Amino acid sequence: MIKKKLITSLVLGTLILSSCTSVLAAELPEVKILATGGTIAGSAASNTQMTGYTSGALSVDTLINAVPELKNVAVVSGEQISNIGSQNMTDDIWLKLANHCNELLADPEVKGIVITHGTDTLEETAYFLNLTVKSNKPVVLVGAMRPATAISADGPVNLLNAVKLAASPKAVGKGVLVALNDEINGARDVTKTNTSNVATFKAPELGLLGYFANGEPYFYKESTRRNTINSEFDVSNLKQLPRVDIIYTHGNDDRMLIDAAVKAGAKGIVYAGSGMGSIHKDAEPGLIDAQKKGVVIVRSSRVGNGMVVAGSEQYTKEHFLNGDTLNPQKARILLQLALTKTNNLNEIQRMFNEY
Ligand code: ASP
Repeated sequence: MIKKKLITSLVLGTLILSSCTSVLAAELPEVKILATGGTIAGSAASNTQMTGYTSGALSVDTLINAVPELKNVAVVSGEQISNIGSQNMTDDIWLKLANHCNELLADPEVKGIVITHGTDTLEETAYFLNLTVKSNKPVVLVGAMRPATAISADGPVNLLNAVKLAASPKAVGKGVLVALNDEINGARDVTKTNTSNVATFKAPELGLLGYFANGEPYFYKESTRRNTINSEFDVSNLKQLPRVDIIYTHGNDDRMLIDAAVKAGAKGIVYAGSGMGSIHKDAEPGLIDAQKKGVVIVRSSRVGNGMVVAGSEQYTKEHFLNGDTLNPQKARILLQLALTKTNNLNEIQRMFNEY
């Protein structure tokens, strides 16, 4: 009799507990995790090996299972988009990511997306999505500087923070975000600043947007530049993006690489000039000739901080455009997207002033 009572109360207890858990789970926001590879999914031979490991070795499910705490924050499910070191990023993966984010975010049940990514080109993917995602729901990029197998790996806490951020109403309408090292940065201004340190992502001068404390996001500001639902760029029907090359100036620079870019079919060139986008006198004729062939030239800077504005009358006369505060790799992305819409130089300059 006592045994029967015990069994009945055990069964009842289990039923109550499981219905509580499913009520709780039902209340948690749904967050999709799209994995692309990188050190966050990296595996090394030993836990002290911090370089020379294989990026993109672990699957999205392994990453999720390594952080059981995710289940307290959101209903998460993962998809493997690619599994590469992000130094090998391609336009194809960008287009796939943008279109897939748009499909997923159109579902009212999905509250946000986390994209796990190598840190090398994370800022480029973030900016591309900042201009092509058509939703104000959070899209958060996350990576790690230490492989998943390392002692004090930074991936798990970064992933937990990123999912928290993607699930948070505070992150709605902030554009695409980057979450690493307890900091929140905006896609437009963030850049990788250190080859190995976990505190590598910074938005020099323009600054971070917020912090995490105990996994809770706190915002202090947001970008004033157009993004996501306010962006005019639409990649839903594109199979490829126009070729845009970056030419990085240096002492003794000349036109050789500019001519090579034109020959390779570049539709645009970002010239990473010295100082405020200054152009070497021996490279300039190459840019003028490229321009005459319809190649759009945008002046950017190799300095890493500050604006590139019209400045010299000569560059304006030559119809070279100004890259504003975008670093060369982000100016390249904006120029690629601009060229999918127009070749009009005034229009493209307007885009550089607005995005
Ligand atoms: N090479 C790696 C990558 O970008 C570095 C990293 O993830 O930190 O995929």
